Amino acid sequence: MTKCLCVGSSAQRGTTGPSSSLTCRLLSWAGAQKPPLKTKSAPDTKLKAECNKGYVKVKQLGLNPTCLDSVVVGKDQEVKMKPGQQLQVVNQLYPYTVRFKEDPSGDSVSSKRPHQPAASEGLNTSRSNKVAKQEKSVSSSVGNTESTSTHDTAGHWSNGLKASMQDPKMQVYKDDKVVVIKDKYPKARYHWLVLPWEPIRNMQVLRKEHCDLLRHMQRVAEQMVENCPDAGVACFRKGYHAIPSMSHIHLHVISQDFDSPCLKNKKHWNSFTTDYFIDSQDVILMLEEKGRVALKEGSSELLKLPLRCHKCLRELLTIPALKEHLKSHFK
Ligand code: AMP
Ligand code: ZN
Repeated sequence: MTKCLCVGSSAQRGTTGPSSSLTCRLLSWAGAQKPPLKTKSAPDTKLKAECNKGYVKVKQLGLNPTCLDSVVVGKDQEVKMKPGQQLQVVNQLYPYTVRFKEDPSGDSVSSKRPHQPAASEGLNTSRSNKVAKQEKSVSSSVGNTESTSTHDTAGHWSNGLKASMQDPKMQVYKDDKVVVIKDKYPKARYHWLVLPWEPIRNMQVLRKEHCDLLRHMQRVAEQMVENCPDAGVACFRKGYHAIPSMSHIHLHVISQDFDSPCLKNKKHWNSFTTDYFIDSQDVILMLEEKGRVALKEGSSELLKLPLRCHKCLRELLTIPALKEHLKSHFK
């Protein structure tokens, strides 16, 4: 049986019907033994602001591990939870997903991405601990039966890759297993994404049987590099983001010049130059050896590291300073 968790002040009243002003719900298929989650009020306006950005914040308050897509959040750490991701509270016992819902009050929640994604949403969203705590406090109200599908918000920005991969204007290569598209917000002179046609949500669902597909994705990525006009001159990396913002697994193929106006903030930089970026080769190895991809705890913290040049490791204070510095490496 499907249970419904509500986020927001209305959740305390347990109102999930059409008159509710809830804009976001956490859906669960945990069954009968749902943990009695503590409820705190989160003002609807603040919650909506987060929903508008395409996430809700979740914090692990106690010692019992809370996992987001199998990655432990860590005590007192908070993470952004996006549609398609799975939250598991108390030792992976209770799984939830997040789904954004049209606000029945008419004060609609945008299903459009306000600006470019992910690693793009920047670090400037931080607020006071107190407010953040309120916002992420997930209130539980077991109630209405809902669909557990996390893909019914097809128009949501986090599903953008699914649309782009079908768009001939975005496609630069395709075969029976994969398609390669140009990254819509390239973070370097060359930036492609290799996506399998098979709808694989993220790295956490990968198993040994996906090894062949991942090896094929890597071969296609290598082919892209070989056929690139700057082949032999430009350096490339091929890998996955530890915590991707977009649904549908995608392999980044990115040149290491990072010469792009779309690279705007620390989060962008660190997502490609720290261990947040996991080489395709390592993902395949992990899968071959362990049968699954285990992500390190605290990956999201890597995005907050100081800006450091990936070539000479010099620390730079700002993105403009970093970009200026990069010119000395990439003429
Ligand atoms: P991530 O999910 O963090 O691994 O990265 C997602 C990548 O997809 C980013 O590099 C974005 O610039 C890119 N992106 C976002 N939306 C689209 C879209 N609609 N079409 C193509 N690329 C996109
Ligand atoms: Zn340098």
